[in-house]
Amino acid sequence: MCGIVGYTGPREAYPIILKGLKRLEYRGYDSSGVALLNADLKVYKKKGKVAELEESVVGKDVHAFTGIGHTRWATHGEPSDRNAHPHRSKSGNLAMIHNGIIENYASIKQDLQKKGYEFKSDTDTEVLLNFIEDIKENNNCTTEQALRIALKRVVGAYCVLLIDKDDPETIIAARKGSPLVIGIGKGEHFLASDASPIIEYTKEVVYVNDYEIAIVKPDELILKNLGNEKQTPFIQKLDMELAAIEKGGYDHFMLKEIFDQPGSIFDCLRGRLNADAGTITMSGVENHLPSLINAQRIVMVACGTSWHAGLLAEYLFEDICRIPVEVEYASEFRYRNPVINKGDVIIAISQSGETADTLVALENAKEKGAFIFGVVNAVGSSIARMSNAGAYTHAGPEIGVASTKAFTGQLAVLAMMAFKIGYAKGTIDEKRYQHLLTELWNIPDKVAQILEDTSNIQAIAEKYKDAADFLYLGRGYNFPVALEGALKLKEISYIHAEGYPAAEMKHGPIALVDENLPVVFVATKDKYYEKIVSNVQEIKARKGKVIAVATEGDTVIPGMADDVMYVPDADEALAPLLSVIPLQLLSYYIGIAKGLDVDKPRNLAKSVTVE
Ligand code: GLU
Repeated sequence: MCGIVGYTGPREAYPIILKGLKRLEYRGYDSSGVALLNADLKVYKKKGKVAELEESVVGKDVHAFTGIGHTRWATHGEPSDRNAHPHRSKSGNLAMIHNGIIENYASIKQDLQKKGYEFKSDTDTEVLLNFIEDIKENNNCTTEQALRIALKRVVGAYCVLLIDKDDPETIIAARKGSPLVIGIGKGEHFLASDASPIIEYTKEVVYVNDYEIAIVKPDELILKNLGNEKQTPFIQKLDMELAAIEKGGYDHFMLKEIFDQPGSIFDCLRGRLNADAGTITMSGVENHLPSLINAQRIVMVACGTSWHAGLLAEYLFEDICRIPVEVEYASEFRYRNPVINKGDVIIAISQSGETADTLVALENAKEKGAFIFGVVNAVGSSIARMSNAGAYTHAGPEIGVASTKAFTGQLAVLAMMAFKIGYAKGTIDEKRYQHLLTELWNIPDKVAQILEDTSNIQAIAEKYKDAADFLYLGRGYNFPVALEGALKLKEISYIHAEGYPAAEMKHGPIALVDENLPVVFVATKDKYYEKIVSNVQEIKARKGKVIAVATEGDTVIPGMADDVMYVPDADEALAPLLSVIPLQLLSYYIGIAKGLDVDKPRNLAKSVTVE
């Protein structure tokens, strides 16, 4: 969601910023723009893709050594050239980009309007910018001081980059609730919402904290808190290669990331799981084993696909560790008045580690004394930093908006946690523990097997691409997989889809079934297999079209289903790591068959940094 890029140094800023914006496109956006500062301040912005901005700028003066760029995901005001960032202040001297929402913008706007300010856009951002300029003029202070005063008065979330015509080598940045990374080069600095625009220039980065202001010049980086006290920047080395954020020969990031999964799941297990020795090494779990074993309750807090991983973890932790689990949507959890008792453990699941709702939900829970365990993909992200303990999923950067490899990484981490805690607690015996470890170790090879030939799934996608609705059904561990399959289809193909527990469909959705409705059954061999066979019959009796995900060697389901996608056999607790793969592919190929932009589906944002 929204991308921010900045550069100051000896090189031409525009090409660096433009490339950075393209790298951030995956986050989801509707318009983009740049402000370039040399002797004068130039602003170019455009509704639509970064390529449209690039085209509109051809032939114009882009010479500058300092600049800022933005991809906007509209919250206040429709996507349009006028509302795109950067915005310019009334005097024209300041330009600013912003990620987030200024919640009290309306009252500030009214005050400024009374003073004669006129606004060119509908955004909260332009209000904040003019508020800063107004403070600067009234107090006869520097831009940095005015920004500090303004930020103390605003309510909401922000990451802002601000440039001033009178100080042409400086970018002033600030954040609260929205991410910001600063890359440190030789006599140059790079700023961005995440590391992807920075990685090709430098691996030394500083993650800016909430309530910090950065004054960034080509060879100087000063960090201060809102109280104007200097902070020592904590420089970290990025553990990421450029290849990880490029398509590497695939048509789309989503396809690349689906095919990455044998490797990304293996990377998640590597160094942790040793099936031969019967050990799982996870320092985040080991260092806090008593809190985890004695947890009275675990609450999974997440959004979207990560919420589905949380739901699967409910089945795992209850089955294997005998700990009661609740699964919460972060956006609801944060605004309820949830009961949090001593001894409760919150497991926060997030790919980006920046999900706004999850962050605030965790802050609230932490204040009430909960122990927070983060399951996060993006290293150094806000959730990772604020958790008491955690485990990274090590899936590598996920660029496709629809989550694939981050999801299977989350499942692998949560499975290892459950096995380790259950074994330490004595709720699974040696034999089952050893079996589960071996089964998990074999998962990457089995995923690779599914990916060997996808032609059957492509043909199924072609056959059903024009359906108006889909139903996804599953039982037990396969129910969250059905939800995830339906979500993937909605995200990528814009086809309405619903996931349901297979038995529950009789309480409503069965009314939708006719010869036009494809029903996807996640029907691998597990203890509910016979039951799901009956559910397939019920759909067939009403002429529904059945597409089944079935276990290789099964002869019953293929005899009843119209189409089958096979997966290798696995323990039911781990089967979702396999059964989700054909569903990811099905939505990808349906999206492609419909000619859609699968990497950047409309309206969606990769990392939802506004609530
Ligand atoms: N609230 C701002 C706007 O609507 C920024 C949105 C964003 O984060 O892109 O323009």
